[in-house]
Amino acid sequence: MKTFITGHKSPDTDSIASSLVMADLEKKLGNTNDIIACRLGNLNKETEYALKHFNIEAPVLIENVSEADEVILVDHNNFAESASDIADAKIVKVIDHHRVSGFETSEPLFYMAQPVGCTCTILYELYKMNNIEIEPVYAGLMLSAIISDSLLFKSPTCTPKDIKVAEDLAKISNTDINTYGLDMLKAGTDLSSYTAEELINIDSKEVSANGYKIQIAQVNTVDIDDVLKNKIDIEKAMNNLISSKGLDLFIFAITDILNCNSKAIVLGDKVSVVEKAFNTTVENNLAFLPGVVSRKKQIIPPISESI
Ligand code: MG
Ligand code: MG
Ligand code: MG
Repeated sequence: MKTFITGHKSPDTDSIASSLVMADLEKKLGNTNDIIACRLGNLNKETEYALKHFNIEAPVLIENVSEADEVILVDHNNFAESASDIADAKIVKVIDHHRVSGFETSEPLFYMAQPVGCTCTILYELYKMNNIEIEPVYAGLMLSAIISDSLLFKSPTCTPKDIKVAEDLAKISNTDINTYGLDMLKAGTDLSSYTAEELINIDSKEVSANGYKIQIAQVNTVDIDDVLKNKIDIEKAMNNLISSKGLDLFIFAITDILNCNSKAIVLGDKVSVVEKAFNTTVENNLAFLPGVVSRKKQIIPPISESI
């Protein structure tokens, strides 16, 4: 019997860390299946940095879950963000910190969700609930995920629990949160090797609101203008995706992780939705979003409301 554990497509550090950590937890909880930590896409540079730092192999790259007897989802529940054949799989567990949407099973399951900033914060609690000791390497991975999802605690998605858990994980993994955290986030801002097509897919989500199809992608940087040097190529790649997926709106947010602002390239027929949502004007396909760092809390809700 095979148990696959996977995070979402365009995996971020939380999705990768959560699948590796959940695999460790499952083994220690007595799951005797072949437990395979999986991923549905390439590692980003931030995650690569974290895995190298804590010296652990990446999850196995898969395209679908047809080989699995059972599947555990971490850091997502929406089928649209999961493996293409997920609707046919037997999902036995979900550990997540997103709203429940586009999710259904035919059988009962273990489902643990909390409105915290990171899936790994919930996994930490699972270790504690089951009296399982956390090994330093898994503590380091969970800490990396919390730093990533919370942008070093600066994102409005970060909760007091995330900070408390991160502090304990830093102790277990003997890590200086600020030094390591900034180095890890900065590693993720090295966008030099990506083509425009790759850039808009590093961290990209499709959301639907009121029948409209909206793609919202995000990259982290320490220099927004440096990313905008390739604006023409990025726009071309965005327009290609708008045509091929039939999108109504594409928002590509470039987030300055030091100053906590974003600029967004906005394309599609529904650009006015962005202007209304953020009370701003889109000029030259660009919108300035002061103080915006979180897609989940600061982009998706106003966009949905505006639509
Ligand atoms: Mg995620
Ligand atoms: Mg997450
Ligand atoms: Mg994220």
